[in-house]
Amino acid sequence: MGLRERLLAVQGDIAAACTAVAREPEDVTLIVVTKFHPASLVQELAGLGVRDVGENRHQEAQAKAEALAALDLNWHFIGQLQTKKARQAARYASAIHSIDRERLIDALADSRDIAAGERPIDAFLQINLTDDPGRGGVVPADLESLAEKALQTPSLRLRGVMAVAPLEEPAAASFARLASYSERLRALAPDASAISAGMTHDFAEAIAAGATHLRIGSAITGNRPEHG
Ligand SMILES: *Cc1c(COP(=O)(O)O)cnc(C)c1O
Repeated sequence: MGLRERLLAVQGDIAAACTAVAREPEDVTLIVVTKFHPASLVQELAGLGVRDVGENRHQEAQAKAEALAALDLNWHFIGQLQTKKARQAARYASAIHSIDRERLIDALADSRDIAAGERPIDAFLQINLTDDPGRGGVVPADLESLAEKALQTPSLRLRGVMAVAPLEEPAAASFARLASYSERLRALAPDASAISAGMTHDFAEAIAAGATHLRIGSAITGNRPEHG
């Protein structure tokens, strides 16, 4: 199968997973994760109609976004983001899915000139679904305080929650917890109803749990090239 066939197959699987739980495929945004793949693959995807792409390393994302600026794609930053790289990432990223600490919000605070008409960055609060504090994401107990901080930051538009399902438990159980955190966030910010969840191996479970933004890589791009 080539890239086009894999993309069509995943789009078909997404539609089927939506139908199975009486959801509309239009309510689900597919972000194709292109990390470790060259800009030429992103260009090919754009030729197939893909508008949303995801990257998890700043330098790589920056280089590709610059090379492909003419395509006007939506670049979603989905990896751990160093505070000192935040302002640079804000130049090309239309969305950041990995906001997990107040210092990162501080670093993004004046990254967009809202008064001059610049669009705010779509902000997803990443939640750690494990007990390991070394994993990315805010601990659930701190979700509300982080959300308050984001809501007070005009350069950010708080969209919702994001998580990666841990390997240690069935994805459906993790995504059920994520859905409950999404409810907590909506109690504070009714518009922040997006749920960024679902990867190659668990996107059907994520759709069943209400995911609105899927981050799918290898099922579409094929295996990632070796990286050191
Ligand atoms: C790599 C990555 C994905 C995509 O993973 P696949 O298993 O290739 O679909 C999604 N989300 C995050 C945060 C990632 O780093």
